[in-house]
Amino acid sequence: MITKQTRVVILTGAGISAESGIRTFRAADGLWEDHRIEEVATPEGWEANPQLVWSFYQQRRRQLLEVESNSGHKALVELEKYLDNFLLVTQNVDNLHERAGSQNLIHMHGELEKLRCQECQHIESMMEEEHLGEEFISCRQCGARLRPHIVWFNEMPLQLPEIEKALTQCDVFIAIGTSGHVYPASGFLHTARLNGSHTIGINLDPPENVYFFDEFFQGKAGEILPHLVQRWTEE
Ligand code: NAD
Ligand code: ZN
Repeated sequence: MITKQTRVVILTGAGISAESGIRTFRAADGLWEDHRIEEVATPEGWEANPQLVWSFYQQRRRQLLEVESNSGHKALVELEKYLDNFLLVTQNVDNLHERAGSQNLIHMHGELEKLRCQECQHIESMMEEEHLGEEFISCRQCGARLRPHIVWFNEMPLQLPEIEKALTQCDVFIAIGTSGHVYPASGFLHTARLNGSHTIGINLDPPENVYFFDEFFQGKAGEILPHLVQRWTEE
């Protein structure tokens, strides 16, 4: 039972964007868009072959111009409007939550829209056509090479203290479209449970941590979420 005063924290993963046509990360075979994760999503991969990594993320960045938010993203916007206390934490690096209208949003694994300087750490949103090609881009501030503003494996997720605080204060925790393989996001469920929150999971396949949810809905986020949100917000 959710009321306006219920404090809700949501964690989303690649699954919520799957119905928009963005492929999920295939944990089973360790491939993301046919690339090995170590090649395209680690600092070592960037060191070893920056051109490959750059090209990989430039493709993901160009893809943002071709995809749209789906009914799952939109349902979360309706839920946010209804609640007084709502935080959406996403592992996704696409921009579909904000394009749907989500406001209180943390991108814990970074954002495809943004590039970051390797040297001075300057961060900038760069989505003009001239920023989406195959050539590297230099920092406006210091001239060094820009890298994707993405948290790679072995790097520290963003805004963790803020997320932990919200988790220890929430009444309801909802995980959507996430396999529960990627640490530390996979541990958020346990933090919320330890704190006495009611936990809800929504996923196409039962995730690794399915037994720890108080309620689990199996299916597509874009089909399940609109119904659940309508039910929760009409009381
Ligand atoms: P994951 O790919 O490991 O798991 C996705 C989960 O979503 C799977 O369990 C799958 O069963 C489920 N799923 C697929 N379609 C669904 C649907 N329509 N509705 C509900 N669930 C559905 O994703 P993860 O746990 O987010 O971890 C992947 C990592 O890779 C993240 O760190 C993320 O940064 C990155 N990634 C991001 C994107 C993106 O930004 N859209 C896409 C791929 C990978
Ligand atoms: Zn710089």
